[in-house]
Amino acid sequence: MNLPDTSRATQGINFNEPLLFERKPGHCSGASLPAPEVPEVEPSSEIPKEYLRGQVEGMPCLYEPEVVRHYLRLSQLNYGVDTGFYPLGSCTMKYNPKSAEAAARLPGFANLHPLLPDERVQGALELMWRLERMLSEISGFAAVTLQPAAGAQGELAGLMMVRAYHLAKGKPRHKVLVPDSAHGTNPASSALNGFEVVELKSGPEGLLEPQVVAAAMTEDVAAVMMTNPNTLGVFEKNVAEIAKVVHAKGGLLYGDGANMNALLGRSRPGDMGVDVMQFNLHKTFATPHGGGGPGSGPVGVAKELVPFLPVPVVVKDGDKFRLEFDRPQTIGQLRTFWGNFGIMVRAYAWVREMGPAGLKSTSDLAVLNANYVRALLKDDFHLPYATPSLHEVVLNDKNQKDLGVTTMDIAKRLIDHGYHPPTIYFPLIVAGAMMIEPTETESRESIEAFVAAMKAIAVEAKESPEALKAAPTRAFRERLDEVKAARKPILRWKPGTKIEP
Ligand SMILES: *Cc1c(COP(=O)(O)O)cnc(C)c1O
Repeated sequence: MNLPDTSRATQGINFNEPLLFERKPGHCSGASLPAPEVPEVEPSSEIPKEYLRGQVEGMPCLYEPEVVRHYLRLSQLNYGVDTGFYPLGSCTMKYNPKSAEAAARLPGFANLHPLLPDERVQGALELMWRLERMLSEISGFAAVTLQPAAGAQGELAGLMMVRAYHLAKGKPRHKVLVPDSAHGTNPASSALNGFEVVELKSGPEGLLEPQVVAAAMTEDVAAVMMTNPNTLGVFEKNVAEIAKVVHAKGGLLYGDGANMNALLGRSRPGDMGVDVMQFNLHKTFATPHGGGGPGSGPVGVAKELVPFLPVPVVVKDGDKFRLEFDRPQTIGQLRTFWGNFGIMVRAYAWVREMGPAGLKSTSDLAVLNANYVRALLKDDFHLPYATPSLHEVVLNDKNQKDLGVTTMDIAKRLIDHGYHPPTIYFPLIVAGAMMIEPTETESRESIEAFVAAMKAIAVEAKESPEALKAAPTRAFRERLDEVKAARKPILRWKPGTKIEP
């Protein structure tokens, strides 16, 4: 078989360099400050001795260009969605338009002090108020809070409201039901709220079945958590029926909204009977993520949960906006100030740019792209669930297992081809899972180039499986022992030290 060389990665200019602290020690300064206009004083005459720091041991001698180059090169070791195709399933690594960046950088937004009085920040409050209404409209909820800083904190907030709701009725409940395909944050958020987590088994189609929920549903169950589409990328077609089962016993249905990219403009979780759901603005609403940057996990609620929303709530009185703190049933404030405001500006700009028709075509294209990947790869890689895919497709290594090739080997070889690997070994109900989410922002060409790399790896698995064990060979680092790297990380690499695999 004659496959093109699909690799876009080259050896290029790779620097192997020590950390700054491992460089030449000595005393020098990279800064050149003008002479002070006030007389110099001896610090020890003004500051008590115990607060004065002497020389820092091992402080390297570095000049400005050396520091700039070091940090620029570090930044270039990073792979981001602006670098290339990033099919990390469940994370919706879509392109973030630079117009939204420009909006977030407007001085009137970027330089705001969070403690300015309401009358001085009317524009910012109006933006928050409008974004809350947009998200409510898109998802079918009565109200939205923008406060949580990530999806996981949104889940925490949502379940705090669930707990407060049952407490207010005088009947505290103790259990939350979570399907076995759920993201790990679902049981974690439940446990952090003091709930006992009960796992529900998915059916043969990878779906949660109403009779499974009914069998576990008692008057001690506070909520059932569902992700729709779920982490297999398939639509939970029983959600409305499950909502009825849960509500009949006085429970609430929590929706994990991380996968809203498949539903935007098409269907609304609130209409399906979901009572509370977190959004991940940094996934669905085109704001940057990865690398530990700020996120935003707004929570939408049905009307019976509105009294419990975190404070402050943005309120509109006539044509004025204000932050309201005095709400007797609130779960309280979850975060410093009012949330990650810069992320809200980006999301607002993106929704305005898309408009209703644009949101609809976002989900249409996201689903089309995932199904294109599925159609092109289904003969090379095993598809564990035949249920139709929405915005992502889960494959696994079953076809390669007998050749001794695993999902890990495939993921590592993708790096040699110049791609960020997909999410692997998740969801846990699929052995050797590879979860591919191309998103709507990839062109047909970039999807086909990625597919060509995957096909080349499938061929390599047949022809020289042992070679795959050495992957990656073109990356900055060879394959590391991941357990050892996590347990005994070598944080101070020294020139000449060989890092043991
Ligand atoms: C990403 C994700 C979360 C958690 O969101 P964070 O913003 O990463 O905290 C929860 N559930 C699912 C299904 C996810 O994909």
